[in-house]
Amino acid sequence: MRKIMMAANWKMNLSLAKLAGYIETLKLNRSVQSRDGLETVLAMPFPFLCKANELLPGTRIRLGAQNAHWQDRGAFTGEVSLAMLKEVGVSAVILGHSERRQQFGEDDEMIARKVKSCINIGMQAILCIGETLKEREQGETFSVVKRQLEAVLNILSSPGKLVVAYEPVWAIGNGNSATAAQAQEVHHFIRNIVRGKVASAADDTILLYGGSMNLSNVSELISQPDIDGGLIGGAALDPVTFSQMIDAVF
Ligand code: PEP
Repeated sequence: MRKIMMAANWKMNLSLAKLAGYIETLKLNRSVQSRDGLETVLAMPFPFLCKANELLPGTRIRLGAQNAHWQDRGAFTGEVSLAMLKEVGVSAVILGHSERRQQFGEDDEMIARKVKSCINIGMQAILCIGETLKEREQGETFSVVKRQLEAVLNILSSPGKLVVAYEPVWAIGNGNSATAAQAQEVHHFIRNIVRGKVASAADDTILLYGGSMNLSNVSELISQPDIDGGLIGGAALDPVTFSQMIDAVF
């Protein structure tokens, strides 16, 4: 039985001053604190991680980051390694988010290296893939998703702790979520690609949907057979809403 993962992507939002209150609110959620099979991840900006690592013991909330370099150390000004993130308690890292692909020039090869290093160091990689509006309109959704996913799968010996987040770029941050049917269709396709590479891993690989997931659509999206949770941006900035979304899943 696959786990459900609810991951909040704070992006470059919130503040250190709001961290403790956010965590306190989530701690009040019984599912977060006691439901087997639920993974709750907070992927926050780097400067908040050390403090969060002090606040999280005694909770079942996992600490996440939003990017990392694939090398352990070296002359990479401005970068942060996976080993450093691990040292401050991070166990899951969002990699290949469309904002990093589009605004920071990350390509499939760089992202594949990051995911490989992440899995090799024993952390969970949350790999983001998804097509732009133009690509969808041109009928390229499946070829784009396949290319982005295979770039990673082709260099992994096993999917291990890989989590794949299908995030159609046209649905991110604008309130226009994919429909449950649209999302399920692509998720099913993604699971079949994983199955084609490593048959035994396909049924265990957690597939998240991301793109304007909110309180009104979370339940329908996550009830789809191949959607195992959400990567949630805007709606997860409010801990009460994020907590309500978790409740809506169960
Ligand atoms: C995201 O950027 O990962 C995301 C899903 O954002 P939003 O929920 O705001 O669309």
